[in-house]
Amino acid sequence: MSTSSSRKGQPTVLLCIGMAGSGKTTFMQRLNAHLHSKKRPPYVINLDPAVLKLPFTPNIDIRDTVNYKEVMKQYNLGPNGGILTSLNLFTTKFDQVLDFVNKRAPTLDHIIVDTPGQIEIFTWSASGAIITDALAATYPSVVAYIIDTPRTTSPATFMSNMLYACSILYKTKLPFILVFNKTDVVSHEFAVQWMTDFEAFQLALQKDTSYMSNLMNSMCMVLEEFYNNLKVVGVSAVTGEGIDEFFVAVDEAVKEYEEIY
Ligand code: GDP
Ligand code: MG
Repeated sequence: MSTSSSRKGQPTVLLCIGMAGSGKTTFMQRLNAHLHSKKRPPYVINLDPAVLKLPFTPNIDIRDTVNYKEVMKQYNLGPNGGILTSLNLFTTKFDQVLDFVNKRAPTLDHIIVDTPGQIEIFTWSASGAIITDALAATYPSVVAYIIDTPRTTSPATFMSNMLYACSILYKTKLPFILVFNKTDVVSHEFAVQWMTDFEAFQLALQKDTSYMSNLMNSMCMVLEEFYNNLKVVGVSAVTGEGIDEFFVAVDEAVKEYEEIY
């Protein structure tokens, strides 16, 4: 483990991870706009080779290096294989990306990273792990796990999303912020209640499903431990609501990172 002092004054990496359609790219746009107007402009990295149009201008864009449609043709792959292979090809050059970032680091406070639409392409690939580790070895790094709040209101869906988040926490071992997005559509209050009141969640689960209820009960206990290890914020990437709170959570998460590393 290296000393935290070597990282003091280094920019913070914010890795945006989440299920397809949870709002990672829109949240990136919001972070970018917020940092431009209120703090220092961030360094922006896009790792999604398949995105058609980005609502922000990245400093590094995987699409400049690999054309995922060409990769699909060349290697005879479907869309997911094409995206994964593109990420693998890009990762072989990630040392060059780090060189660019390192040069700019003294003038930066934040490095924000968008990941491919489908979560598992980043979270369950060697490339995702290599990129995450490479960044986290140099810079204080935080996972912003974006959740589609309106689509997570059923207790069973909520639990599977939390279990997935939990698996990413243990895989990345990085400070973790649960970002309940789209609060302009549905408030995340129900989630906060479920996360703080174990019995309320159990009751909701029982009403929702009688199937595998013992297993469900055991899993909620696992999650209780998980909840103790993270920060929760509700945001709307569209309206900007909650973004100040998000940055408060980032500051706390960075302190945690400095204690760990
Ligand atoms: P990604 O696949 O995780 O990158 O998700 P996108 O950023 O592409 O967003 C998916 C969809 O959710 C788009 O239609 C967005 O306009 C919408 N969206 C994202 N954030 C919000 C939000 O805060 N509120 C609402 N109402 N819609 C959002
Ligand atoms: Mg996206």
